[in-house]
Amino acid sequence: MNVFVTGGAGYIGSVCVEELVEAGHRVTVYDNLSEGHRSAVDPRATLVEGCLSDRRRLGEALEGSRAEAVIHFAAHALVGESMTNPGKYFRNNVGGGLNLLDAAVETGVRKFIFSSTCATYGPPERVPMTEDLPQRPINPYGASKLMFERMLEWYQRIHGLEFVALRYFNAAGAGERFGEHHRLETHLIPNVLKVALGQAPHCEIYGTDYPTPDGTCIRDYIHIVDLAQAHLLALAPGRQGFYNLGNGDGYSVREVIQSCQRVSGRNIVALEKPRRPGDPPRLVASAEKAMRELGWKPRYPKLEQIVGSAWRWHQAHPNGYPD
Ligand code: UDP
Repeated sequence: MNVFVTGGAGYIGSVCVEELVEAGHRVTVYDNLSEGHRSAVDPRATLVEGCLSDRRRLGEALEGSRAEAVIHFAAHALVGESMTNPGKYFRNNVGGGLNLLDAAVETGVRKFIFSSTCATYGPPERVPMTEDLPQRPINPYGASKLMFERMLEWYQRIHGLEFVALRYFNAAGAGERFGEHHRLETHLIPNVLKVALGQAPHCEIYGTDYPTPDGTCIRDYIHIVDLAQAHLLALAPGRQGFYNLGNGDGYSVREVIQSCQRVSGRNIVALEKPRRPGDPPRLVASAEKAMRELGWKPRYPKLEQIVGSAWRWHQAHPNGYPD
């Protein structure tokens, strides 16, 4: 299948592109390299540099790729940043995404797969979280992704564009070749592993007074390769709707730090800091719907496997990608 992947030079996109190519798909990556890296694009894929805001370039790239399916990763994705600069999130994630949706309809794309997020729910009434829980985001990042989900529903009803929205919990870990390198790193696992690598003196715990057993936030970490596999399954004809992707296990920030210590065998100093605005206390997925309907089965569900893959990648690439 011809697949057009926005954000294919980014963390999740790069791993998914590799899996797509391995499975025999012809992939065009559309990425402005603001967050992504040229060397994170599998050389068997075609890279077109461009912004979602550039409607004309986007349309030409999509047309030229003869895409049957679009996988849309390109977005801003930092909860904390969205709390200080909401306009950046709505402009790119909603406005830019809308350009892509229109271009997809115009060029006759049949299938649209969207990187959504558990941040669309806000603090849940219960965990594990199923897809039917109310969506009440508490940060602009989650709100922008929810708006795009609503647009997808209307485009499906009005234009017949089949879509799958995958609500990721916390993507983590690395593949053999591609891993996590953000120019400004805010995510927990890479920041903790920086201490293990000797690149930072300490890591920080954002909030120790949450209503959780050890007072720190609980998240459901999912291996990046398992996450990528779900996109391949979602490409199958007839797949449609919203799916949570996580392992169903929640780990606190302190537990993640302990796991990083065990895996690396290094001592990690953690400083206790105030809460980061916009963080719900506990997010844990029920991915039963994805397992039942998509046939998804995580191969690396254990936190130590996830952290272990990240540790191997960061050891092999201590400075991340060269560009
Ligand atoms: N966190 C932390 N220290 C860090 C980075 C993150 O304590 O250096 C916490 C953050 O407040 C959240 C959890 O770890 O509760 C996961 O944060 P991350 O940014 O990795 O992912 P998010 O849940 O925001 O998508």
